[in-house]
Amino acid sequence: MTPPILEVEDLRVSFTSPRGVSEVLHGISLSLQRGQILALVGESGSGKSVTGLSVMGLLPRQASITRGCIRFDGREITHRVPRELRGAGMAMVFQNPRAALNPTRRIRNQLADVILAHEKPTAAELHRRLAELMEQVSIADKARCLAAYPHELSGGLCQRIVIAMAIACSPDLIIADEPTTGLDVLTQKAIMDLLLDLTRARGMSMILVTHDLGMAAQYCDDVAVMNKGYIVESGRDPHALFLDPGDAYTRRLVNACP
Ligand code: ADP
Ligand code: MG
Repeated sequence: MTPPILEVEDLRVSFTSPRGVSEVLHGISLSLQRGQILALVGESGSGKSVTGLSVMGLLPRQASITRGCIRFDGREITHRVPRELRGAGMAMVFQNPRAALNPTRRIRNQLADVILAHEKPTAAELHRRLAELMEQVSIADKARCLAAYPHELSGGLCQRIVIAMAIACSPDLIIADEPTTGLDVLTQKAIMDLLLDLTRARGMSMILVTHDLGMAAQYCDDVAVMNKGYIVESGRDPHALFLDPGDAYTRRLVNACP
């Protein structure tokens, strides 16, 4: 049997500051099969982003994993994510696309950097790949976008570029951390449709971090609910969760939905 694409077991993460050590993940466990889309929901500060960063090996210096285990496709990556997995095995789409892009480099160069980190295409192949990626994220005005700097593009376009960077090397897993926050409602829907279509079409797995239960129910196969560093409910079909929340915190979250 093929192993799950991602297994997180009893993960504990602490931050160290001059005031001392504080634990923010208190032993969380998750499992994600190939092709599965999992919604990770919960209020601000519940530990969703720290969970994503732990899996990607992108925790800030003051944070450390103190216990537990992370496995990617059966391979342990708890304390070190091998370089070849970054981008090609898993990729992250962050909440703020502008922060994910380098303001001083043209889009063309930033996209090329991602590809060149894993492959050695000829100039002509690279050119074709960049054009193809722009089509995959439905950017019509390719030439202008590729030549632009991030500040010259709208937030929605920047997020499409970040998605293009995430899928450039066909990863098995995408972690999308509130990918539509800060975008207008129509752009939010367009970006979510794009991400989900790409994920399904390529058989990729995704963890969609969101505090929007409606979005979770609409797009995801499963849901895990976090509260204060714990997973309080998981492995539920989002529709079932909506109708019959099993945990008191989840019930409050569902009742708070408009
Ligand atoms: P969420 O994404 O669910 O809103 P986070 O994962 O960002 O929550 O944060 C979880 C907890 O970790 C919060 O209590 C937050 O204050 C703490 N935390 C996150 N980043 C840092 C940091 N760089 N330094 C100290 N504490 C942090
Ligand atoms: Mg967050």
